[in-house]
Amino acid sequence: MKPQLRQRLFELLQIVYPNLCLSCGQSLSYKQEFICTACLHSLPFTQNWKQENNSMEMHLWGRFAFHRACSLFYFVKNSGVQNLLHELKYRNQKELGIFLGEMLAEKMKESMSCDFDFVIPVPLHPQKERQRGYNQSQQFAVGIAKVFNCKADTQFLHRKHATETQTKKNLFQRLDNVASVFELNNPQLLKDKSVLLVDDVLTTGATIEACATTLNKVENLQLSIATIAIA
Ligand SMILES: [Zn+2]
Repeated sequence: MKPQLRQRLFELLQIVYPNLCLSCGQSLSYKQEFICTACLHSLPFTQNWKQENNSMEMHLWGRFAFHRACSLFYFVKNSGVQNLLHELKYRNQKELGIFLGEMLAEKMKESMSCDFDFVIPVPLHPQKERQRGYNQSQQFAVGIAKVFNCKADTQFLHRKHATETQTKKNLFQRLDNVASVFELNNPQLLKDKSVLLVDDVLTTGATIEACATTLNKVENLQLSIATIAIA
């Protein structure tokens, strides 16, 4: 199809099925995907990938051993970033996760060494994954792995079955429970590998810490962390 014709068709389709920016809700123009140009210029990118000892790394220091860490955005309440995460988690916009993964990986590639063997998403609780139909962090991992030409893996790290109900426990028992929620399949295959652990948002960091501590039990595993946003 001729480019002019394709553009005309796009414009006609926009009237019937408007393609909207998932950050601000404005119509997207031809060749824009998921996020409009204005939002791409105004979203709070962290620039973490350009700095060693960046804000994300400082947030995680002293909690577990890692090589590098970076987040794509700062999380700001009632902002475009919150809208993007809401669309990704609750409105079935799973392709957006892949798009954001590719975006972060392209930025990381510019200024960091990115020779990862595996990109591993934080596993979602199985019940939540069934309800949602997908794990948003896995979508993000798939986008990243595509750019780095490695594997997004969901087999190694998983949640232990039947964790006792959290509500009956006190705070300290609950924290202890979080730390032992995850376990590894075939850990010997991760020996000497470089792993990028990914999640959607870093808030307290308790979940990332629990996953990281589990992965760090593997001999000579080099661990790095990436998230879509940091609160
Ligand atoms: Zn926008």
